[in-house]
Amino acid sequence: MKKALDPKTFDWITVAEYANRYGAKLDAMGAENKRQPTLCPVCRGAMTTVSENSPGDRDAVFRHVEARTNPKTPWCILRESTRWKYEGLTPTVPDVARGRLIRQSFLTNWQKHWAIIKNRVTLPGIEFFISAIRLADKSRVWEHRDLQECLMPYILMSMLEFPPPVGVAANRRTHTERYRFGGAIRTYEDLWFKTTGEFNMIAVEYEPAIPPKRVATVVLDIRKIDINLDFLEHDIPADLYAHPRQVVMMQNAFHI
Ligand SMILES: [Zn+2]
Repeated sequence: MKKALDPKTFDWITVAEYANRYGAKLDAMGAENKRQPTLCPVCRGAMTTVSENSPGDRDAVFRHVEARTNPKTPWCILRESTRWKYEGLTPTVPDVARGRLIRQSFLTNWQKHWAIIKNRVTLPGIEFFISAIRLADKSRVWEHRDLQECLMPYILMSMLEFPPPVGVAANRRTHTERYRFGGAIRTYEDLWFKTTGEFNMIAVEYEPAIPPKRVATVVLDIRKIDINLDFLEHDIPADLYAHPRQVVMMQNAFHI
């Protein structure tokens, strides 16, 4: 991660800023300086620096203190960067009939779901929405027992990653984005079994993976996502209506 939380002020700081505030990694005698570790903004676990060889080293990043050396290290979605997809996409005990109803209702309300996503993701593209619904169909996400329709836009956001857009929008977002649930949520069912109905979500911005590396792992920034669960009961704000071209694409994709 390019940044982590200052252990005292909780500011979001770089390795260079950390060295300025808490001293360099090594003292003048070459011995390791005992510095208070920075914290992960998601799990608040201790972080250590990597590649901090010279002051202001541009490749220096923060990394979680290994769970092996520190048994108190909490589970954290940001540590799982090479295996970033949520577990439990397909329900173990599906409720087929209810799943069919949720999917039907979702497709009736698709503009409301799309508005939630459009308002939170930087340049999502309707193609993303269509592929996320197809992935939900393939993995039968709708059939999770106790799934509420209002969770669907957040679940869809968390299923795919968003590489930088290409073409005319290319300079409007140059990083890769992933959307993650906070706390101990590791599977979709944790959303209703491990919370009391309230959960956090964050957008994590990554440096795009450079070939041959296939997975983006360097975190650049994190922002909090606003959760709205009663959107199905309200009208869509006028500026979030789908474009007629998007409506046609949705009709063609799902025969609605
Ligand atoms: Zn963490």
